[in-house]
Amino acid sequence: MTAYKDMTKDQLETLRNELETEYNKYRAKGLMLNIARGKPGVDQLQISMPLFEVFSSEADLTATDGVDVRNYGTLEGIPEARKLLGDMMGVPKEQVVIFGNSSLNVMYDTVARAYMFGIMGNTPWCKLDTVKFLCPVPGYDRHFGITQQFGIEMINIPMTDSGPDMNLVEYYVEKDPAVKGIWCVPVYSNPSGIVYSDETVRRFANMNPAADDFRIYWDNAYVIHHLYDEENVIPNIIEECKKAGHPDMVYQFCSTSKITFPGSGVAAMSASPDNIRDVLDRMKWQTIGHDKVNQLRHVRFFHNLDGMKAHMKKHAEIIRPKVEAFLDEFDRELATAGIAEWTRPRGGYFISFNAMKGCAKDIVAKCKAAGLTLTGAGAAFPYGEDPDDSNIRIAPTFSSLEDIYKAAGLFTVCVKLSAVEHLLADIGA
Ligand code: PLP
Repeated sequence: MTAYKDMTKDQLETLRNELETEYNKYRAKGLMLNIARGKPGVDQLQISMPLFEVFSSEADLTATDGVDVRNYGTLEGIPEARKLLGDMMGVPKEQVVIFGNSSLNVMYDTVARAYMFGIMGNTPWCKLDTVKFLCPVPGYDRHFGITQQFGIEMINIPMTDSGPDMNLVEYYVEKDPAVKGIWCVPVYSNPSGIVYSDETVRRFANMNPAADDFRIYWDNAYVIHHLYDEENVIPNIIEECKKAGHPDMVYQFCSTSKITFPGSGVAAMSASPDNIRDVLDRMKWQTIGHDKVNQLRHVRFFHNLDGMKAHMKKHAEIIRPKVEAFLDEFDRELATAGIAEWTRPRGGYFISFNAMKGCAKDIVAKCKAAGLTLTGAGAAFPYGEDPDDSNIRIAPTFSSLEDIYKAAGLFTVCVKLSAVEHLLADIGA
């Protein structure tokens, strides 16, 4: 296939007519498809149903510290849950706090605590004129939503194949005391699927921040969410920060949302002992303890990290064909057209797609008009503004495989049609 940019006006017009016919056929089907959010499909939820069979009414619900999990107490979480999620994050259980049903909630509260009370004796951010966060882009829209809520200024940091552009990160963090944090999804990033390189992790750990209360917000949401046999494991940020003499510089988050049930799982945070003390000191006024019944249920279901990993293989079997359905369609239909680029994730929940500049909003609108809902164009950027209007996040997990084939076909037609229309507009046709 000739690259679109090398086509003559006549060739482009012929192609546009063919694509319009194809597009109208999709429209006539009355489709109702949705690949907007990274939600597990029903078949994925189904594999965790035995969680409900873990406890019988005669079960002994005493945790290893002797506490009856049905009752109040144990602010930091039961020891066996701290061990399980600590193993997931590669951190000793003493440095882990178990929270409620959502890590996003934990991240929000972490920012809120810094804003209201300050971190480890530092000035609360609400008393400062300017607070800034670095935001690797494309990134997770809900991270940016949190910082936007608190009026924190967000600075775009481009992602490279090995993680955020570290020259820029170091420049801002080491020069500007108003920079208080950076959002990171180090393994199978949302949405690019990128895994940070060893060098990137070590450069993070070796930064010398201008602000004492600068923290890396290390959201390890997809740490064991591999799609293939190979496990992408990166250096342990908590250990690396300690080795580099900056033990307090990082907060790490994770949850079982995309392991068992999103919204009904268990979330955790890990950090240095001083950070953990600081957090618990505030949290003790917020709750007497989180849902320990669910913590124990998860531990008795998985037993250990190997149990969790075996469970994740079942998820991978279901997700992989859906991701590959998109990639195969792109390879077949777009590889030589020169109008798009896309990531090939080895784990996580998303494909990040870059269309021809100026086309993303148009593609999302075209898909919507034909019955396919996508994440809004620009959503993966602070303030919802993609400077190139190019990036679209594809979340293929929620729909059935049959629907994914249809979605991939329609999406690709819209990508092509939009590109042809833009090229024709450029040459004034
Ligand atoms: N962090 C990232 C990077 C995510 O992609 C998501 C969900 O898509 C979350 C956090 C939400 O996690 P939780 O359900 O634990 O709040």
